[in-house]
Amino acid sequence: MTATLIDGNAVAAAIHGEICAEVEELKTKYGIVPGLATVLVGTNPASQFYVRSKQKKCGEVGIRSFGYDLPETATQEEVEGLVRELGANPEVHGILVQLPLPRHLDEKRVLSAVPIEKDVDGFHPVNIGELGMKGREPKFVPCTPAGCIELLDRYNIEIAGKEAVVLGRSNIVGLPVSMLLLKRDATVTICHSRSHDLPGICRRADILIAAVGRPRMVKTDWVKPGAAIIDVGINRVDDPTAKQGYRIVGDVDFEEVKEVAGYLTPVPGGVGPMTIAMLLKNTLTAAKRAAGLIP
Ligand code: NDP
Repeated sequence: MTATLIDGNAVAAAIHGEICAEVEELKTKYGIVPGLATVLVGTNPASQFYVRSKQKKCGEVGIRSFGYDLPETATQEEVEGLVRELGANPEVHGILVQLPLPRHLDEKRVLSAVPIEKDVDGFHPVNIGELGMKGREPKFVPCTPAGCIELLDRYNIEIAGKEAVVLGRSNIVGLPVSMLLLKRDATVTICHSRSHDLPGICRRADILIAAVGRPRMVKTDWVKPGAAIIDVGINRVDDPTAKQGYRIVGDVDFEEVKEVAGYLTPVPGGVGPMTIAMLLKNTLTAAKRAAGLIP
């Protein structure tokens, strides 16, 4: 069998179109322009790249972006002070603190300074807590996990009652995506570096989410025929034939697994583009909520 490719670029483009239309309506009907503030501390090239991409996408869909670049030497008080200032600014509906922060800064304290109604990254402990509680809804869901679920939904892949296995338990991906699957009534197993018999556990999965950061770890014999596989991994591997000398691969051995899986995301072009799409969606939600248009 050859898997159906889940095209993250196409889904993200469709979502950008939907956001663009809603932003336009907000502007014309209510005079509201959604605003996203990005806080970047230091000069980590990957972080700079991610922040610029987010700002560029904001511009494309009509969201106003407020960029704050602080030097590597910024103090805890300066960063927290800026976040609090943005928290009080009515033109800013979402605040994104780009992680990781330089080592001398206390990430927990900085993130806690983001008001919950502007926590478009969904990392505030209250939002994560509500994600895990029955009958409660968080204000925002973390973007990459939300993107994984959105891909399943847009390809009409049923979640309720299915066996879902999540490889990885990080605060950013593995844990929140597991809680989202549970909220959607899947039977969820979470694996990590101390789990035994990963191939055996993964073979039970109707839905397998791989978020471990290990290049091509998931092989054919880990996959139940017909399963839906969402590959979150972004790993750099040497490739002398590539222009830069490396290429990006996922946590799933794409070439092998596509012969067994029912659905499969490529890397790149799968989950990656969904992360920014979900951030823009969260920012739009924050703006609508601030205006009292939605609860
Ligand atoms: P972390 O390193 O924070 O977490 C990795 C998780 O995988 C941990 O729970 C770890 O277990 C588990 N793990 C590591 N090695 C193994 C192994 N050999 N067997 C079983 N479990 C293992 O990574 P992230 O969650 O932040 O990211 C995971 C991947 O997703 C990375 O490749 C990252 O680049 C990518 N990513 C992609 C995004 C996107 O937009 N597409 C966004 C965010 C991340 P333990 O807890 O026991 O240590």
